[in-house]
Amino acid sequence: MLVVTGATGRLGRIVVERLLERVPADRIVVLVRDRERAAGLAGRGVTVRIADYNEPGALARAFASGDRALLISGNDLERNVAQHTAVVAAARTAGVASLAYTGILGTAAGFALVDMHRATEREIEASGLPYTFLRNGWYTENYTDRLPQVLAEGVLVGNAGPGDRIATATREDYALAAAVVMADLELDADGAGAAHLNRAYDLSGDSAWSFAEFAAEAERRAGTPVRYEQLTAAAYRDILTGAGVPEPMARLFTDTDDSVARGELARTTGDLSRLTGRPTTPLAETVEQAVAAVR
Ligand code: NDP
Repeated sequence: MLVVTGATGRLGRIVVERLLERVPADRIVVLVRDRERAAGLAGRGVTVRIADYNEPGALARAFASGDRALLISGNDLERNVAQHTAVVAAARTAGVASLAYTGILGTAAGFALVDMHRATEREIEASGLPYTFLRNGWYTENYTDRLPQVLAEGVLVGNAGPGDRIATATREDYALAAAVVMADLELDADGAGAAHLNRAYDLSGDSAWSFAEFAAEAERRAGTPVRYEQLTAAAYRDILTGAGVPEPMARLFTDTDDSVARGELARTTGDLSRLTGRPTTPLAETVEQAVAAVR
């Protein structure tokens, strides 16, 4: 069976939809915290198992021997590594055939988010399980989700330079890649599936865009002025925390922009479009949809 964690999250939901297009529903298991939120999937023939990453007892029943598991990383910055470690231990004890993990694209060490994902990758390597690391780059939606406020104020702020570039892709793009890998593992274990094992994919958009270009695209689509304003990291952090963003999360935003400024997130590896067999979604398309949703 294919087991997908985080299946009621924004990425996981799309992964399951793309899997259902490729694999019979009765070969798919979703691991979720809230059965009600997976009721629609159960109605379509998907098996629902309940487990919280914080509950080893439930995790012990989450996997079965021979399963192909996809661990979608959790969103609790403080407890992520311990939670993921518990999932890896449960998968290993159950004897899953392989474990895929949605981590993050590499940047310099010292960036908390990246260090956290690397720690999980090390746990998986140490488990001895055959693995696939799906190192997702940044979601385009991290930026388009800000458009309601950006359009209202006419300004996008950050601590990267206006010309610094980032190669994002949409959740839809990353989810499709994960579904392709998992379907290959389930349907063609000795062929296409075997080629995904014990390797890392560095996934990013086909092209990198700058914050000045993002602002120009938003302005073009919305028909109202939008500019990009570069702040110091401290000033940007103050704005975020002043708006109620928790300090660790605010630091992730400023660390991300530092990483963008160093050129670390502009890498266009081509791994993502190679896996999915189609170009990644252009920035203009995602901005167009997001602006239309605001209007
Ligand atoms: P979401 O926050 O929408 O989904 C996170 C998923 O993790 C949810 O399904 C959630 O369950 C599940 N989860 C969290 N804690 C637990 C737990 N204790 N036990 C079991 N399940 C848990 O994030 P996305 O789907 O958008 O992204 C997936 C992951 O990608 C994130 O969790 C984060 O690690 C990472 N990420 C990457 C970004 C990028 O730009 N590359 C940006 C943002 C996040 P439930 O549905 O019950 O809430």
